[in-house]
Amino acid sequence: MTHILHRQIHTTLPVASGGRGIELFDADGRAYIDASGGAAVSCLGHGHADVLAAMHRQADTLAYAHTSFFTSEAAEALADRLVADAPAGISHTYFVSGGSEAVEAALKMARQYFVEIGEPQRHNIIARRQSYHGNTLGALATGGNEWRRTQFRPLLIDTHHIDPCFAYHYQQAGETDEDYARRAAQALEDKILELGPETVMAFVAETVVGATAGAVPPVADYLRRIRDICDRHGVLLILDEVMCGMGRTGTLHACEQEGIAPDLMTIAKGLGGGYQPIGAVLLSQTIFNAFASGSGLFQHGHTYICHPMACAAALAVQEVIARDGLLDNVKAMGAHLTRRLGERFDNHANVGDIRGRGLFMGVELVEDRSTRLPFDPKRKLHARIKKEAMARGLLVYPMGGTIDGIKGDHVLLAPPFICDVAAIDAIVERLGDAIDAALQTASD
Ligand code: PMP
Repeated sequence: MTHILHRQIHTTLPVASGGRGIELFDADGRAYIDASGGAAVSCLGHGHADVLAAMHRQADTLAYAHTSFFTSEAAEALADRLVADAPAGISHTYFVSGGSEAVEAALKMARQYFVEIGEPQRHNIIARRQSYHGNTLGALATGGNEWRRTQFRPLLIDTHHIDPCFAYHYQQAGETDEDYARRAAQALEDKILELGPETVMAFVAETVVGATAGAVPPVADYLRRIRDICDRHGVLLILDEVMCGMGRTGTLHACEQEGIAPDLMTIAKGLGGGYQPIGAVLLSQTIFNAFASGSGLFQHGHTYICHPMACAAALAVQEVIARDGLLDNVKAMGAHLTRRLGERFDNHANVGDIRGRGLFMGVELVEDRSTRLPFDPKRKLHARIKKEAMARGLLVYPMGGTIDGIKGDHVLLAPPFICDVAAIDAIVERLGDAIDAALQTASD
């Protein structure tokens, strides 16, 4: 008998009893390679001595002080570090406790910005189908995953959605990347014009789409076109890098590889690496200036913003990543992972697409490669893969079902930045076996 609500669906969960490096252990002594870092969280793996030492030092000094009375050294140092390494134009941070809170805060910042500069008619949010931005009401309204939204729809603010940039499903036969990027970005301009540019507040997008679609990077130039369209219509660009950011794709921020900078950016998971719950909004000098010369404050706040323990843990995580050159390892191991996934699955009858960047990779399963026909969702292939993978000592993040007309099962891989070649090889070997075993049981 359990008193934890979510265990009504996860009835047979093992008890996690420890973690070291890339592995987690359960109470029965089984070891699992954490190849998804939970949900792209544990970027340094588990039990990292330097992070634990920093957390101990912070706990010994100060666990908590409310932000209306004090600032803390940990929060100031983390903010300095994040701004120093941020995309061009970013000047300040706002620390919260996770990804959804970061998205909520970013939406409210965008709205208050337009009130401050005398454009209060701007309130419309445009986002994309096949996206996930969090489960709180504003973030849920912004995300384009209908399955998550349906029953809560009466509670959600009106938002607007365009097609994602998702080459495997949306690029037409014979269409060049350039033409597809132009067409996919044009959908935003069309929507802005339809709503009336003077009413549009922000466009929200994951730089590399995570949970809903399985590590889908944009085609070249799509986001640069999106940036231009936003600028032309005075619309703020909010990039949600909660999952794909903080080094996961091989650069600190995924948008660096697109050659653009957002007005607002949300980060979370890899920021604290799971050692503490923390997220943040990075905001531009322009937005900060509007607050500073206007009402003088951002009208928002939570009890745990700038939590000293969370900031100290995140600071330690980020210092280790820089000190140990781990972004280079993400690039090298990402290339190795891509190669090994290709060797294992390029000729696999039921693997339709392998995609991603750095140590953020997706494998999409299809019943028929030539037609890209997905498996019947009733088979719950993704759930079978998860089970077979766990039986082989591997944690991966599979998703499936019908998402906005696109039915499909995919597996998301987001292993720790500390992985070596042997770890990557073991991950691919176990994943291949798990997928084959799951396909076997799915067809029984
Ligand atoms: N945005 C993105 C892109 C995410 O992947 C997630 C979490 N999967 C969130 C927001 C919400 O973050 P959290 O679960 O920490 O609230």
